[in-house]
Amino acid sequence: MDSHAEEMPKNTIWITVSGSGTAECDGVYCPSQAPPKVSESGTKSSLGYWNGKMAWDRADGKAARNPSISYSDSYKSWRIARLDGHLAYQQYSSEPLPHEKWEVYVKKGTAPAPTIMLHDSDPRGKNPAAKSFFPRPNVVFVLGGPGAGKGTMCELAKNQLGWEHLSAGDLLRAERKKGGAQGELIEGYITAGKLVPDEITVGLLKEAMQTTTDSTGHINFLIDGFPRSTKNYDAWVKVMGDDGANEVFMFLFECPLPVLEQRILGRAKYSGRSDDNVESLRKRFVTYKDETMPIVDAFQAKGKLVQIDSSMKREEVYATVKEMLKGFTDPSAGANPLTERSEILLGLRPYPKKEPKKTE
Ligand code: AMP
Repeated sequence: MDSHAEEMPKNTIWITVSGSGTAECDGVYCPSQAPPKVSESGTKSSLGYWNGKMAWDRADGKAARNPSISYSDSYKSWRIARLDGHLAYQQYSSEPLPHEKWEVYVKKGTAPAPTIMLHDSDPRGKNPAAKSFFPRPNVVFVLGGPGAGKGTMCELAKNQLGWEHLSAGDLLRAERKKGGAQGELIEGYITAGKLVPDEITVGLLKEAMQTTTDSTGHINFLIDGFPRSTKNYDAWVKVMGDDGANEVFMFLFECPLPVLEQRILGRAKYSGRSDDNVESLRKRFVTYKDETMPIVDAFQAKGKLVQIDSSMKREEVYATVKEMLKGFTDPSAGANPLTERSEILLGLRPYPKKEPKKTE
């Protein structure tokens, strides 16, 4: 058991569900030890089922108890329903909870089934930062100048390798869209090509990671456009704690400045981004040099920097990305066929004609 695991009230167990099939998991159950039974309507039940129906029709958020856990006297069976996308529950019971044979309900045809783990104490430990996650996420930071291809490579890795892609810039733009004082504040920084205050960016990242893990069970994250300064990274460490995430390494996509400028100005025609113009671009380059390079150097000093020349062919860049992520990627994922979108991203198919966006 984890050395800093927390004591839990008597007769409490932690059940966590993780792995690639988590998103399709409908609930967990402890199969009945009783023989199948025939209901009044003549339906014969099978293990884990209740009168031939899954007990999970209450997993719609409408159960009186949340999460809905039920004990069937006749079937001598415990059931916990999935609610609100959360699959790690702390649940109290006056009955002794069984510690064996928990299984998951997954949608028919889903393979492989997620993994179930039982714990006698809170496995997230005493570290308040680690409280938000289970299990501990693997994080690869992705940096590079504007237009260096960070987003493209992250999207490819997501599509084929199942890595989750979180872009600090996209999260900030989504937050800006919500408006209000915070939205206006963010807009000011983005248009000026300056870094948004650290606590806003780190808060959004942490929330997005947590929501993603809760709803998909995925724990591999490519964090694109972060950390962009030493202060950015300090804020991350403060929020995540020393061991809240496994920081695998940092990718740095390097590309000569004139190529970046050309790419961004090409993108400006359809991106609708308020900062895809020469003036904002120059400011972004200055910010990159002054504020981002020191944190890149710090990762290099730790031996955690992977530099990739992103002026090479996209297929070659992606091959390197894939190779570097291999240690944390589901071994079969590398052979997944490329989607049409991925082929477009790799330049193997033409881009579909795009209407210019009005504004973002
Ligand atoms: P990007 O989409 O990565 O080019 O980022 C666009 C803008 O969002 C940047 O110029 C900053 O104003 C803001 N931004 C993105 N990432 C961060 C970050 N890690 N910290 C602070 N501001 C950021």
